[in-house]
Amino acid sequence: MVTDTRSRPLRDLRISVTDRCSFRCGYCMPREIYDGHTYLERAEILSYGEIRRITRLATDLGVRKVRLTGGEPLLRSKAYRLVRMLSSLTELEDLAMTTNGLLLAREAERLKEAGLDRVTVSLDALDDSVFREMIDTDVPVATVLEAIDVASDVGLDPVKINTVVRRNRNEDQVLPLLEHFRGTGHTVRFIEFMDVGTTNSWNLDEVVPSVELLKIISERWKLEPIDPTYRGEVAQRYRFSDGGGEVGFISSVSEPFCGDCTRLRLSAEGKLYTCLFASKGTDLKVMLRSDASDDEIRDAIYRTWSDRTDRYSELRGGTPLGFPKVEMSYIGG
Ligand code: SAM
Ligand code: SF4
Ligand code: SF4
Repeated sequence: MVTDTRSRPLRDLRISVTDRCSFRCGYCMPREIYDGHTYLERAEILSYGEIRRITRLATDLGVRKVRLTGGEPLLRSKAYRLVRMLSSLTELEDLAMTTNGLLLAREAERLKEAGLDRVTVSLDALDDSVFREMIDTDVPVATVLEAIDVASDVGLDPVKINTVVRRNRNEDQVLPLLEHFRGTGHTVRFIEFMDVGTTNSWNLDEVVPSVELLKIISERWKLEPIDPTYRGEVAQRYRFSDGGGEVGFISSVSEPFCGDCTRLRLSAEGKLYTCLFASKGTDLKVMLRSDASDDEIRDAIYRTWSDRTDRYSELRGGTPLGFPKVEMSYIGG
């Protein structure tokens, strides 16, 4: 077990397996920047064996939950092989993936068989034209809905649906999304638009605070708050009083939760970051590729966490802080 300078234990590891993506969501990888972007070369990104080794050493220090993300994790070839390698780590209690859903229907069964416990699927709208505008890519909503059904059928459930809300773009999709998913057992979580990185033209005016959404939703359905089930749970949860299931809110701009942040992040090229808004990481790849021992690598992870002071969202207020920050698609959402 290791705790940081604010007594926060290390519990979760988010692993970005690629910095590439099939979508161009404006809040994450705006097309005008990312179509011409220089992505990491194959030799620069960690192999599955290297990822497993780091994960195994992180479990020695308290990590119990792992989430595979990116970029789009299913763009990485045979991602189920990585899942199989990680699911054999007996200390891990939860192995999940966040995906845009494009390749999920094809991969769901293999992922489940390999030991994946759950998936979170991103979906910002139920209306095709709003969805296409949000992801700036020609993919119909039906593809993602089908992927959610297949994932659920093979047992990767309950599925969480992540919806980033931007003012005047997809706010009107909040009620239709809930109408669709209420009663299915899947939970929609509305995420405030965050100032991750420096390329997504973030602006406080486009953030729809969760209290505002809560009010709109409560006018339609009666909601009751649910207590968090564990320290570090990022979503504030509510249940529909009529038994229709749950809805979550991730309010990192209006109600920061840094005090309970137990997440460490590993970039596709093997750098460890202790905050989504970090500018510098600890390079583990150089250690992995220079024959460092398990003890040396575990010690580097230990020191990275024990030195941690981060609380960006608490300090931000309404203005992004000035230092250069890594991009969401690189560090992993
Ligand atoms: N490509 C996968 C996907 O979209 O599910 C995984 C990676 S994506 C970076 C992970 C999550 O971060 C997604 O649910 C996405 O909506 C969210 N996200 C990306 N940029 C964001 C931003 N600026 N503010 C809030 N959430 C964001
Ligand atoms: Fe791709 Fe996910 Fe970012 Fe959208 S949010 S651009 S799907 S990495
Ligand atoms: Fe954790 Fe950084 Fe987000 Fe705060 S701003 S909750 S420290 S990732």
